[in-house]
Amino acid sequence: MGNCSREHAIDRIASYSEAALSDESLRQPEEFGKYVFNEAAIKRYLPNRVAEKLLATIRDRQPLDPTIADDVANAMKEWAIGLGATHFTHWFQPLHGGTAEKHDAFLDVNGSGEALQTFSGKNLIKGEPDASSFPSGGLRCTFEARGYTAWDPTSPAFVKRHANGATLCIPTIFCSYTGEVLDKKTPLLRSISVLQRSVKRLMKAFGAEEKPVSITLGPEQEYFLVDRNFYMHRPDLVQTGRTLFGSPPPRHQQLEDHYFGTIRPGILAFMTDLDRELWRLGIPAKTRHNEVAPAQFEVAPIFEDLNLAVDHNMLTMDVLRRTALKHGMVCLLHEKPFAGVNGSGKHNNWSIAYGGRNLLEPGDEPQQNVIFLTVLTAIIRAVDLHADILRASTVSAGNKHRLGANEAPPAIISIFLGDQLTEILEKVGKGSAGAPESGHTREMILLGGETLPPLPKDATDRNRTSPFAFTGNKFEFRACGSSQSCAGFNMTLNTIAAESLDYIAEKLEKLDAADSESFHRGLAEILSEIIEKHKRVIFNGNNYAPEWVEEARRRGLPVLQKSMQALRTLTADENLDLFERYGVFTRTELLSRFEVFLEEYHYKVRIEGGIALEMARNMILPVVVDAYDKALAAYRAAKDSDLTEGVEGVRKVAAELGKLVDGITARCADMETALQGEHEGILDAMRALREVVDRAEQVISDEAWPLPKYREMLFLYN
Ligand code: ADP
Ligand code: MG
Repeated sequence: MGNCSREHAIDRIASYSEAALSDESLRQPEEFGKYVFNEAAIKRYLPNRVAEKLLATIRDRQPLDPTIADDVANAMKEWAIGLGATHFTHWFQPLHGGTAEKHDAFLDVNGSGEALQTFSGKNLIKGEPDASSFPSGGLRCTFEARGYTAWDPTSPAFVKRHANGATLCIPTIFCSYTGEVLDKKTPLLRSISVLQRSVKRLMKAFGAEEKPVSITLGPEQEYFLVDRNFYMHRPDLVQTGRTLFGSPPPRHQQLEDHYFGTIRPGILAFMTDLDRELWRLGIPAKTRHNEVAPAQFEVAPIFEDLNLAVDHNMLTMDVLRRTALKHGMVCLLHEKPFAGVNGSGKHNNWSIAYGGRNLLEPGDEPQQNVIFLTVLTAIIRAVDLHADILRASTVSAGNKHRLGANEAPPAIISIFLGDQLTEILEKVGKGSAGAPESGHTREMILLGGETLPPLPKDATDRNRTSPFAFTGNKFEFRACGSSQSCAGFNMTLNTIAAESLDYIAEKLEKLDAADSESFHRGLAEILSEIIEKHKRVIFNGNNYAPEWVEEARRRGLPVLQKSMQALRTLTADENLDLFERYGVFTRTELLSRFEVFLEEYHYKVRIEGGIALEMARNMILPVVVDAYDKALAAYRAAKDSDLTEGVEGVRKVAAELGKLVDGITARCADMETALQGEHEGILDAMRALREVVDRAEQVISDEAWPLPKYREMLFLYN
């Protein structure tokens, strides 16, 4: 049967022919935002007065005026029905890392048995899902399982279409009966407010007038595509999202010909469809290309406001999966679907804009650059002080197979700045360190304005091995896993950046802003002290080199190779204090989150072990025993014949197969034992089991092998 299904899948791929260009694709750009209740829709469906109030709420994060809620709900309903919607849902992001939706029809029935289409302000603003089955880390016992969802007007409602209609989706936060957060969005929103406040405080210390602050995010999303028929015959992919068996084919990525290669027609048809869907949802998908591993690709949007960008990334993952199915493929978002080839990450490009101007963009004016250097220094301090929780934010059962392998930034958090910028910072750093009275130091004047050299505007040397790279006008956090929600990394980043900006602002506030020269001298001293103390976190070299681990240890940077070790840092007192002080999490909330992550990690490893055992016993072992049986019969027949040739050969084949039967049986037994114990044991047992099964794959006849092979899944698609 194995062979049959593999053959069928291969035949289907072989018979692919490109579809003719449809007229639909010609209209794509006009359709941008068609499924979003955006400003245009608001203005069209609501009277001016109400529209203005709603837009003020969206733009300035004002609380929603309850008197307009019914009007807004009604307009939204009319708009959504026009796009085929029959239902609405509060769309939220529980702690399992995905999204959740429970649909309610716009349906009501009146006294005379007629259907009405209804949707009230109350429906819009608040929902009360029975929340007992979402992870809560012990925050909410099932007997008090009521949860609340509440509308987040800063992320616009949208319509999700399916073949047979559509659903109005309202982005919401999700909390418990007692008000504790149960989702990923709430702490993100809190951290955004926190950072906005700190940026304003810093800019005020610089004497700047108050302007709106926006935290920006552009997440690059990597993914794999495999033919759906192959996928269906891989229980490991279906159950865990990654292959637990399979040996890399002779050719995988060593020719380096896939990265940025010509995109195959079937994939391009998929990508075009993907972009169309994303654009309709107002997601500004901009870049698409082949990635390093065969069958691996990337999509990246134009950066947006953080909260919206996080929602959009969640939606992008959803649209990726749905669109792949439409094209007879499955999109794998797992961090390491295939052993031996590159895994998938999510590059988290993050920055801060003040009054629309990017604070991490060096400019032409010295004052602008003084602020740039200050913010840069604050982030260096933040990352050095809190490398542990940044690392913790990247922990997942999937990402563990990627981080630390020779392909993704290692488990040591360091910053890449590029040589030029590092040199400038070093100068600032040395500026006051024991500066002699007389030598009123060029470096201090450096920040005084006049002689600040032009800063490099383009980080020309691009270091791909750094987990946290400054890339000219933003920081790119690259340790993030492809399937993870962006909420966690950015919540952490925002909080630690806010703490560092406050640290500097507090010192600046003590200086005399009116006396420019002394202010800048004071600033130079503050910055130089910080740089001297925290420059150890800057590393422009090769992060993949084994020497770096030693060097990092020498520098005193945390080397958190093990996921559990990294995760546990969340429970350190100083980290609980930090999040509590900034009002991002109460201690209880953060501790419960830690429990959720821990539990999820362990469940996932246990599921992997369980399915590996099942596949080895039910799919692989019978095939190996069959082959052994045949080889044994051949050996007996050869011995009984008058031939001398072949006897030794079939004996060897039978012996090898016999060894595999023993090996697989023994390692299955080990796995069974391991499954009773800790995750480390399960991971070890999986590695051991994989070793014999992968060996069997090379020995068993191709025809009899039940699982689609790597060379098929990674190379055969349209
Ligand atoms: P790369 O060469 O690393 O792929 P790109 O220039 O393509 O880098 O940008 C990667 C991502 O960074 C894009 O999503 C882009 O929109 C985003 N980006 C650019 N500027 C900013 C910014 N100021 N804040 C946040 N993200 C940004
Ligand atoms: Mg990039």
